[in-house]
Amino acid sequence: AAKRQGRNRFHYYTPAMHEAATARMRLSNDMHVALADNQFKVYYQPIVELATGRVCKAEALIRWQHPRLGLVSPAEFIPIAEDTGQIIQIGDWVFRQAAEQAVHFRATHHPEFQISVNTSPVQFKADTENHTPWFAYLKELGLSGQSIVVEITESLLMETRDEIGAQLLALRDNGMQVALDDFGTGYSSLSYLKKFDIDYLKIDQSFVRNLMPSSNDMVLCEAMIVMAHKLGIKVIAEGVETESQRKLLKQIGCDYGQGYFWSKPVAAEEFEKLLTR
Ligand code: C2E
Ligand code: MG
Ligand code: MG
Ligand code: MG
Repeated sequence: AAKRQGRNRFHYYTPAMHEAATARMRLSNDMHVALADNQFKVYYQPIVELATGRVCKAEALIRWQHPRLGLVSPAEFIPIAEDTGQIIQIGDWVFRQAAEQAVHFRATHHPEFQISVNTSPVQFKADTENHTPWFAYLKELGLSGQSIVVEITESLLMETRDEIGAQLLALRDNGMQVALDDFGTGYSSLSYLKKFDIDYLKIDQSFVRNLMPSSNDMVLCEAMIVMAHKLGIKVIAEGVETESQRKLLKQIGCDYGQGYFWSKPVAAEEFEKLLTR
C-alpha cells in the first residue's frame, strides 16, 4: 500500500508486489532470447462466415513456449513487451509469420483468405512511415494487402496523436483492412467510428458469453450490429462457444463468428487439417 503525507510519499512494497515485479523483469529478460531461440509460435483460430459456415479468415495469436515455465499466456507477456518496447520486434515477427501463412492458405485453400493480426498501440510510433517495412515485405511475397486484417484496440484510437489516423490510412492505402478488437469494453466507442475508417467491429466475448433470447446482451449485440452495418462495417462476434450463441448471432445478422464452438487457436499444420475437413 502507498501512503501520502503532505509532501512526503511513502511507498510500502509488500513481498507479493516485489515478487510480481521480479517475475516481470525475469520474463522481460527471457523475451530477449525468445525470438532468436524460436520460442514463439503463431497459432491460428478460424473466423467463420455465419451465412455459409465457411472458414474465410483466421486470427493470428502468439504463443510463447518458455523453456522453464512452459506455455506463457500473451495476456501475461504482451503488456510487459509493451512496457519495454519489445513488442515492436515481436509484432513485426508475428506480421511476417502471418503474411507467409496467408500466401500458403491463399494457394491451398481460398484465394481471398485473410489473416488478422493483433497490434499494440506501441506499434504505432510517431513516424507515419512506420509500417513501410510491412508493405515492402508484402510486395516481396507477392501478396496483396487485402490478405491482412490489422486488429487495433480502442486504446489506440483514444490517443490524440494526429499520426494515428495517417498510419491507419497508410495501412488501408496498401490494401489492408482494419478491425476494432474487443469492441464495447472501452470508452466512448461511437465517436471513433465517425473519425476513423474501420472495416470490422469485433464484438467482445463478454457480450457473447451469456447471450440468450431477449437478454440485455442480445439487445446490445443487435444494436452494435445494426449500427455497424449502417456505417458499412462488418461484424465479427468473439468467444462463440455454443450452437445456441451461433444461431442467435446469425439470426440478428452478425456477419462472422470466432470461438471454441468451431475451434481453439491451433498451430498452422493443425489449422490446415481444419480447412480440409
Ligand atoms: P484478442 O485479440 O481479443 O484474442 C481473442 C482471445 O480470446 C484469444 O486469447 C483466444 O484464444 C480467446 N478465445 C477465442 N475464442 C474463445 C472462446 O470461445 N472462449 C474463450 N473464453 N476465449 C476464446 P489469447 O490467445 O490468450 O490472447 C489474448 C490476448 O492477447 C488477445 O486478445 C490479444 O489482445 C493479445 N495478443 C495475442 N496475440 C497477440 C499478438 O501477436 N500481438 C499483440 N499485440 N497482442 C496479442
Ligand atoms: Mg484480436
Ligand atoms: Mg478480442
Ligand atoms: Mg482481447
